[in-house]
This record gives sequence, C-alpha cells and structure tokens, in this order.
Amino acid sequence: MLRRTILAASRSPRLREAICTLPLSREVVRRFVAGETTEDAVRVTGDLVGAGLLVSLDHLGEDTTEVGHAEAVTKAYLTLLQRLDDAGLTGGAEVSVKLSAIGQALDRPLCVDNARRIVEAATAAGTTVTLDMEDHTTTDSTLGILAELRQDFPGTGAVIQAYLRRSAGDVEDLIRAKARVRLCKGAYKEPESVAFTSRKDVDLSYVRLLVRLMRDGAYPMVATHDPRLVAIAAKLAEGREPGTFEFQMLYGIRPNEQRRLAAEGHRVRVYTPYGEEWYGYLMRRMAERPANLQFFLRALATKS
Ligand SMILES: Cc1cc2nc3c(=O)[nH]c(=O)nc-3n(C[C@H](O)[C@H](O)[C@H](O)COP(=O)(O)OP(=O)(O)OC[C@H]3O[C@@H](n4cnc5c(N)ncnc54)[C@H](O)[C@@H]3O)c2cc1C
Repeated sequence: MLRRTILAASRSPRLREAICTLPLSREVVRRFVAGETTEDAVRVTGDLVGAGLLVSLDHLGEDTTEVGHAEAVTKAYLTLLQRLDDAGLTGGAEVSVKLSAIGQALDRPLCVDNARRIVEAATAAGTTVTLDMEDHTTTDSTLGILAELRQDFPGTGAVIQAYLRRSAGDVEDLIRAKARVRLCKGAYKEPESVAFTSRKDVDLSYVRLLVRLMRDGAYPMVATHDPRLVAIAAKLAEGREPGTFEFQMLYGIRPNEQRRLAAEGHRVRVYTPYGEEWYGYLMRRMAERPANLQFFLRALATKS
C-alpha cells in the first residue's frame, strides 16, 4: 500500500522539484547512485570489479520526449563504453539500457537505431547490453525490439518482471530463443488487471519463473535482494554448469550479501546507475522499502 502511495506521489511535479532541489537529496542519492559523471561510473566500476564483482551500468533517465535528448543519452552510452574499454573493464562490465530513454515513445525506428548503435559499440568493446523493462504499456514494444536486435546481437539480454501475469508466456519465448534473461519482481505501479499485486503472489510467480529459467534457460540472471529467493536460486542452480547463471543486485543494497555470494564462487553483478536524472530511480527504491524513506526523512530532520 505504502509502495503504491509513494509511486503515485512521485509523479507530482511539486514533490519532484522539492526533492531535486534539496541539497541533502544528493547525499541520500549517493547511497544508491555511483555519481553524476562518466568518470564516476568508471571509477566505481573499477572498485566493484576489483572486489570480484561484475557490473551493469545504467545511465539514469527515462521517458525521453525529445529527439535531441534521446541522442544525448545514446551518446552518453557510447562514451561510457569507450571509457570502459580504455580502462580495460569491459570483461567485467556491461550496460543496461531503458528504451524509453532513447526514443521508444517518440519513434520506433529512431529507438531501434539508437539501441543498435549502443549494442554495436558494446559488441566492439567486448561486452553486452541488457534492455531494462519498464511499465507494462511498453512490454510488447521492448520485447519486439529485443527480438530485432538479437537477430544480429544474440548476446543482448532481456528482463522479465515476475509481477506481470503475462510473464510465464514471455519466459517460454525467451527460453526458446536462448536469450539471457534477468528475472526481477518488477518496480512500477501496475493495475491488478495486468499484475499480481500481493507480495505473496509476486513471490510465487518469481519462484515459478525461476524454476523454468534454471531448468531450461540459457543464462538466468537472478535479480533480487530477497534472501529466500536467493537461497532458492542457489539450490536450483546446483544442477547447472558453473558460470551459466548469475545473481544481480542493485548498487548500495545488501553490499555485504553481494560480496558473500561472490566469495562463495557465484557470479554476482551489481546494477550501478549513474547520471544526473536520478529522481525516478530514487523514488522506486524508496517505494520498495519504507526504511529507505525513513533514512531520507531522518537525514532531512538532522539537517534542518
Ligand atoms: C539487478 C536488478 C535489475 C533490475 N531491473 C529492473 C527492471 O529492468 N525493471 C523493473 O521493473 N525492475 C527492475 N529491478 C527492480 C526489481 O523489480 C525490484 O523492484 C527490486 O529489486 C526489489 O525487489 P526484491 O526482489 O529485491 O525484493 P523485495 O521483497 O522488495 O526485497 C527483499 C529484501 O531486499 C532488501 N531490499 C529490497 N529493496 C531494497 C531497497 N530499495 N533498499 C534497501 N533494501 C532493499 C530488503 O532487505 C528487503 O527485505 C531490478 C532489480 C535488480 C536487483
């Protein structure tokens, strides 16, 4: 309930302006975001890779409404990939891309062209791209563009959200296509007509999809911080060849668990956002865990 309230409130332009202009917000943001510049992203990637972790970098921003902005985001990815390559980090770092940031709502061919430029650059640098999944109105378009990209770049990864009722069918399609699949619970405010809304139903769906991916998926990417799901995934993975799946967690969330899993020999990837447009991302993290909101409000109270 609180999660849905926070997600709904986060759409208020006044709240957005208030939060983005508070100097303190930047301190809170630093816990979840690697920094605002490409240099910050490369530095943090170096630290994480040095600690035995893998990385997926996300240039923050979504719902682009101008062609020029979509071009700027695309160029930011091209620059990032070049810098990662120069720093010798592409063996341990890939990128995650939100299609809405590169023109999905503006013009499909433009979006496909931008995505293709990023995937080509990633391939040339020796790494891969995963297409993030956004709200349910974009699922068909994202899966369609993914299929198109995978014809030439089969390493391009997909995301499945366990809260969507349709996901069982999508997982079967992606298993057949031998795609890399990141499985997450889902972070957007969705209507009951398309999504499970109780925690229990989402978790049950996650386990059902996880069983399918661990049994027949080419390369499952288990994206969750939930201790029960991590334990179930580790158990299910016992039948798989080593190195054929990975855990994924968000930057700043359960960092000790990330290191513990890596120390046990698992591949662990840290989804690491960077950039100036952190508002939407921060609000989704607040909505997931009321304790984060308390952290934010406590920091506010101690500063004022
Ligand atoms: C690598 C990665 C990529 C993702 N990509 C997408 C995507 O493309 N599309 C999409 O819709 N969603 C994405 N998500 C977000 C995901 O859908 C969930 O919203 C998010 O991961 C929280 O769910 P959970 O599985 O961690 O379980 P929860 O039940 O939310 O949390 C389980 C436990 O994890 C810890 N925890 C969880 N969230 C937080 C937090 N914000 N702060 C502090 N502790 C926390 C707490 O200990 C909590 O009790 C991604 C998540 C990860 C890890």
